[in-house]
Parts: sequence; C-alpha cells; structure tokens
Amino acid sequence: MSTRTPLIQRSQELFERAQTVIPGGVNSPVRAFKAVGGTPRFIARAEGARLWDADGNELIDYLGSWGPMILGHKHPKVQAALRAALEEGTSYGAPTEREVRLAELVLQAYPSCDMVRFVSSGTEATMSALRLARGYTGRDRIVKFRGNYHGHADGLLVQAGSGLLTAGGGSARSAPSSAGVPQAFAELTLVADYNDPESLEALFASQGPEIAAVIFEPVVGNAGVLIPTPEFLEALQGLTRAHGALLIADEVMTGFRLAPGGAVERLGLEPDLVCWGKIIGGGLPVGAYGGKREIMEQVAPSGPVYQAGTLSGNPIAMAAGIATLEALAEHPPYAQLEAYGQALQTGLEEIARSAGVPATLNRAGSMITLFFREGPVQTYAEAVGSDTEAFKRFFHGLLEQGIYWPPSQFEAAFFSAAHGEAELKATLEAAEAALRNLAA
Ligand code: PLP
Repeated sequence: MSTRTPLIQRSQELFERAQTVIPGGVNSPVRAFKAVGGTPRFIARAEGARLWDADGNELIDYLGSWGPMILGHKHPKVQAALRAALEEGTSYGAPTEREVRLAELVLQAYPSCDMVRFVSSGTEATMSALRLARGYTGRDRIVKFRGNYHGHADGLLVQAGSGLLTAGGGSARSAPSSAGVPQAFAELTLVADYNDPESLEALFASQGPEIAAVIFEPVVGNAGVLIPTPEFLEALQGLTRAHGALLIADEVMTGFRLAPGGAVERLGLEPDLVCWGKIIGGGLPVGAYGGKREIMEQVAPSGPVYQAGTLSGNPIAMAAGIATLEALAEHPPYAQLEAYGQALQTGLEEIARSAGVPATLNRAGSMITLFFREGPVQTYAEAVGSDTEAFKRFFHGLLEQGIYWPPSQFEAAFFSAAHGEAELKATLEAAEAALRNLAA
C-alpha cells in the first residue's frame, strides 16, 4: 500500500461536476467531507473489505455503506440472489413471496416481535413507528435522546446526531436541528440525555401522561459509539412500562450487526416496537418496523394508522435482504467480528498510548469509534468534547494510506466478515503512522 499522496484527479473532477447539479455534490451530507475537508472519493467498485475509487486507488473500507455491508461487498450469495431476482422482474406493486420470507427471517431473530412491515429506508421505519405509537396510545409527545439519530423525519430532527452533529445543529431543548422543521413539530419531541436516567425520569414526572413513546439507539452509533449503562437501560424499560409509553428500539444500525437478535438481544431488552434498516436490505433500500401483534394490527389496512409505499417490499431489495440474513444464519460471523474488533481496539489503544495522543476507544462488536479525548466517553456531552482537529488529521493520515475511516468524529466505523489479517495489519500500520504524525 502506497504512503505517497494518492492521485484523486477523477474524484476532483466528478466532485466539481456534482456540485453544479446536486446540492453540495452529494446525496447524503456526510459524504461531502465537510467535517474533515478535502475531496470526497467517488467510488467505482467494491469487493470484500475493499473499495476502489474513480482514480483506481484501493481503500480498506470502514464505512460498509454506513452499516449494511456486514458480509463485505459483493458477497457471492447476495450477488446470486440479486441476479436471480432481476431475471424475474423488478417491481409489481403487488405482494410477493419474498416479502413473507424476509418477514419470517426478521421475526425469527426477534422473539419480542410478532409482525413486521417493510418500508424503503430507516427514516421511513422510525417515522412510521412513531405514528403507530401515537395512534396506539392516543398520545402526542415522544422522547428522544440528545445526539441520537433516527433519520430525517421532521419530528426527529431535534437535537439529532450523525450529520447534524457534525454540522453543529440547534442546541436549545426541543429546538429543530434543521431549517424547515416547524417549531410546533419540534415541541412535540422531548429531549433527554443518553445514559442519564434522571433526565428521563424528569420528563416522565412532568409530562408522563402525554408521552406516546421513547425512541432510542440501543447502542449509539450516531454520536460516535456510546455504550448504554445498565442503570440507563433499566430506567428506559421501567419508566416506559410504568407510564404506559411504548419503548421503540431503533436497531437500524445495530440490528443483525451486534447479534442475530441485535442490540436488544445482547442487552436483554424487551422493546414494544423495533425499527430496522441497513443489514436487512443487504445493501439495497429497505427499512422495517415491527412489534407485538396487538400493536402492529393498528397499521393499515388492518387498522387505522396509515402507512404505505410504492416500492415497499421491492422484490430485488427483498432478495438481497433474504440472502444476507440467510448467510448470517448459516455462518454467523459474530465471533470473528468480535475477534477482529478486539485486535483492532487493542492495537489502536496501544498505538495512541505510545504516541502520547489522548484518545478513548468505544466499541460494540463491529462498531468502533476512536474519540480524541481522555475517557470515559459515555454521554453526548463527553463525545462532543473530543478534539475534532486531531480527528481530521487522523482521518486524512489514514486515507492517504488507503484506509477509508468514516469522515467524522461522530460516526461509527464498521467492519465486516471480509476483514481479515491483511486488513488489520494494514490498518494498524497506517494508524501508527497517522497517530505518530499527530503527536509530532
Ligand atoms: N436510525 C439510525 C439509528 C440510523 O443510524 C439511521 C441512519 O444512519 C437511520 C435511522 C436512518 O436510516 P436511513 O438513512 O436509511 O433513512
């Protein structure tokens, strides 16, 4: 792997062209490298743990398309399923067997859920789950946590993480994180602090009877990785039950990544509703929400809560999802991902320590963040106290050496079952050079 600054002329040309026809040159903000500066790489192709950019530079991928690619790129089983589905047709607007099969696979992994509805993105999943929670409880307010991100529906762009955090969104309680979100919508969204049970208790004490649901990331990826404390999880489960509010686990990022039954299995939680996305679509646009029959039967056409989609349950997307979940069930990669993660964690911690760079590593399975500050980092406030200038230099140091880490301090890096010894060695060598350079 070369340590010389790579040629990125084609990416530069494409980015210039893109900026004239697409806002910011990208179709999702974090791709534009605003937090780290420089030119985003345009990707030409991918295989296994690697990407190739438009100039032919080879990159070890720690984005995994922001989560879906747990098997690595172009997994043979997924590719074969896609080819077979394509031969049959692409979209009918009528039900297909694949939707039933994917629903069965998702529900087998989540015993707390009896039914699931497919949509086309994580945003649609959380937005629809909240509508259902409101319809079911007859209450209007919802609670989310500062720095958690649940997609870009109006009511959820309040104190939101991910790209909003990177861009420095609004800071007052219940203030929208985006222009265009009416204050009146934002006011229905109450904000508590992650890993702070008292802040949740205070909201329930003052507004309990009006709260339809609490939505949360069971392991946060969107402020960088934050691990929930047992006291926090106990409060979430206990307070929602005591006040008749629904507990909505947003497993869009963690579902099928942290365990076959996601973070809720790992943490022993019993949510009322679960949202999925990313992995269940195997790299194609799929989201879903599910829960107990009694709640899910409120969704149209069985019940009065309306939700629909022209491309929902699209056969090509279902094929990729089925192949991915079947491959995960046949050869569960979780022990291997844990071993890779442990080795990457130990290596990065050791390199940072010996280079004298203040850093804290948070990891859950195959989700990892190196925060540039002393630890512990358990809360949103602690995460945003990181040295983002140091992160920037680390990021570019890695990228120049062919390691594509997420371009923001406040995002999780993901690795896949296709990451092995060669990727680990190259990553740690590049990190060593980048962190020594940072300390120099
Ligand atoms: N929920 C979580 C936890 C996410 O991480 C994301 C996206 O990163 C979403 C929801 C939104 O999903 P999508 O980008 O597919 O709309």
